[in-house]
Amino acid sequence: MSIDKKKNALIVAKRLEKRYPEAQCSLEYKEDPWKLLVMSRLSAQCTDARVNIVSKELFEKYPDVYSMAEAETEDIEKYIFSCGLYKTKARDLSKMCKQIIENFDGKVPDNMKDLVSLAGVGRKIANLMLGDVFGKGGIVADTHCIRITGKLGLVESSNQTVVERELDKIVPKDMQTDFCHRLVHFGREVCTARNPACTECFLCDVCPSCEKDKNKKAR
Ligand code: SF4
Repeated sequence: MSIDKKKNALIVAKRLEKRYPEAQCSLEYKEDPWKLLVMSRLSAQCTDARVNIVSKELFEKYPDVYSMAEAETEDIEKYIFSCGLYKTKARDLSKMCKQIIENFDGKVPDNMKDLVSLAGVGRKIANLMLGDVFGKGGIVADTHCIRITGKLGLVESSNQTVVERELDKIVPKDMQTDFCHRLVHFGREVCTARNPACTECFLCDVCPSCEKDKNKKAR
C-alpha cells in the first residue's frame, strides 16, 4: 500500500516536536558558526559527546579562525587525536580556516555553494550550518536520519544525497533543521539501530516497519 509521504512527514515532524520540544544540536558550539563548522568536521566517525570534550581544549588553544589557520597541522592533531581520523581532520581544519580567511574575509559563508567549497565540508555539514546558524533550513542526512526515514517509508533510498533531496520535498523548510535534530534523539531513545522499541513507539501507526503492527497482522 502506498503512503502519502508528505502527509506522513508532517505527522512525524509534529509528533517529534511534541516529544522533543528542545530539538537542540548535540554539538555545544556556543553560538559561534566557525566552532560549529570545526566540530562538525570532527564529528565524522566520532560521537558528539567526544567532540564536545575534545573541542573545549581545542578552542582554548585556538579561539578563532585566525589562530587555527596559523597553527601547524601537527599541533592541531595533538588536540583532536581521540576523535579518530585525526590526520585528515587536522589537515582539513587547517585548510578550511585558511580558505575562510582568504576567500570569505574570515567569516563562515552562508550558502551551500561556498560552504561545500571548504575543505572537509560536504552537503551534510553545509545543511547543518544553513539550518542551525543561518536559519535557512536544511536536511542533515546523517545515519539516524537515513535509517529512520527509511523505516518510516518517507524515503526509498539510503543514499545520502537522494535522502536529502527526497526529504527536502516533503518536510516543510521551517521544520527541517529541528526535524533532523529530533530524529537523532529519537534514534538514540526509541528507534535504535539494533533494537527499535516499536511496541512503545508513538509513530507506529504511520510506520510501515512497525513490528507491533506486523505481530498483530500475523495473529
Ligand atoms: S515503529 Fe519501530 S521501526 Fe517504526 S519508527 Fe517506531 S521504533 Fe522505528
